Amino acid sequence: MLPVQRKTRTQSRKGRSHQAMRRPAAVHCPNCGTAKFPHSACPECGYVRPGLKLKLSKDE
Ligand SMILES: [Zn+2]
Repeated sequence: MLPVQRKTRTQSRKGRSHQAMRRPAAVHCPNCGTAKFPHSACPECGYVRPGLKLKLSKDE
């Protein structure tokens, strides 16, 4: 399908103003300070929230 009418320069540019990508959110682990994603386990120490900590297997 083709657009009925050509968009003006302003219309195209206003539409593109919503296309910018946002940096993924990051929080610091309160346990060790490493940057981690919110609501996920810390990659360094496994901390999730008070009372929940995952055991990490570091076999490298
Ligand atoms: Zn941590």
